[in-house]
Amino acid sequence: MLKTKIDLRSDTITLPTSEMMETIPQTSLGDDILGEDPTVRKLEKKAARILGMEDALLVISGTMANQIALMNFSQRGQEVIVGKDSHMYNMESAGISALSQVQVRLVDVINGYYNPDNIEESISLGDIQKPKTALICLENTYDLNGGYSVTIDNMKEIREVANKYNIPIYLDGARIFNAATALDVKPKSLCDHVDAVQFCLTKGLGCPLGSILAGSERFIKLAKFNRQRLGGGMRQAGIIAAPAIYALDNMVERLKEDNKQARYLGKCISNNSNIKINEIQTNIVSLSIKHQEWNADKLIKYLREKNILVKKIGNHKIRMVIHYQITGEDIKYVISTLNNLFT
Ligand SMILES: *Cc1c(COP(=O)(O)O)cnc(C)c1O
Repeated sequence: MLKTKIDLRSDTITLPTSEMMETIPQTSLGDDILGEDPTVRKLEKKAARILGMEDALLVISGTMANQIALMNFSQRGQEVIVGKDSHMYNMESAGISALSQVQVRLVDVINGYYNPDNIEESISLGDIQKPKTALICLENTYDLNGGYSVTIDNMKEIREVANKYNIPIYLDGARIFNAATALDVKPKSLCDHVDAVQFCLTKGLGCPLGSILAGSERFIKLAKFNRQRLGGGMRQAGIIAAPAIYALDNMVERLKEDNKQARYLGKCISNNSNIKINEIQTNIVSLSIKHQEWNADKLIKYLREKNILVKKIGNHKIRMVIHYQITGEDIKYVISTLNNLFT
């Protein structure tokens, strides 16, 4: 494959590998709404096992998984606790209010740490004036522009608070495998303290489509109903499941390379006084420009001319996401381009 651009906008731009595509013609298919696609069932059982959940459901996107979870756990007019910079709050077309019709209670999450006191203060048991808290939503890695890993200890602390008030916890684990890799723990351990979880097949794992939603058998039964309500029931979805099974077997181990490359990139540009970068924990590098004559638009245009694509995340801020299509050579080129920027 001839690479013309170094595309760091997102890990969602990854194309499926040829090995992944080769799984599709040999796939056994069936009508998945009737529960008759053997490849989908195989994937769902495998994913449930990896996450330590009773059952799982293949859905078309992470957004759909999140919205189904909200529908499952809440009733109209209730409240859900979510992180201020979370995907659920910022990037899902106001699905929280438009679909589940619940109100949001925002909490600040600092470098991937959910403060249990803040969470506790945000919980409402409901009275004549206040809606009841239906759900606490966590995200790991936290914040699509930061990629911080939320630790097991932190999740346990939140669980203890939630248990006091008998409130379920949902984990948006879009990049849970990047988090597990960075923390050197099993993905399952990051699910020990939550009731349900989703992860994206389309990011670091490189699949063309799909997310996995997992939880108890009862949760998944209801999720199937809500998926159908959203028009997300699928027929011969084995063509999505086959590459996903391949990815779970072959694309997880290598994520440590992405995390490592991101750290290396960060380290090599951190001495530049015109640049400030986040603390890099996984595969996401956010870069703020401190130079008076530069802003994000100018930087993006400049980098595009150098064949590097990045994403704007603020007037003076861009992000770069590392994935399997980015080579060590690419990283070196990006480093030298950035370090030669203001000279
Ligand atoms: C990408 C992402 C999603 C949504 O996934 P889509 O498949 O793009 O809908 C949800 N949450 C987080 C944290 C994400 O990064």
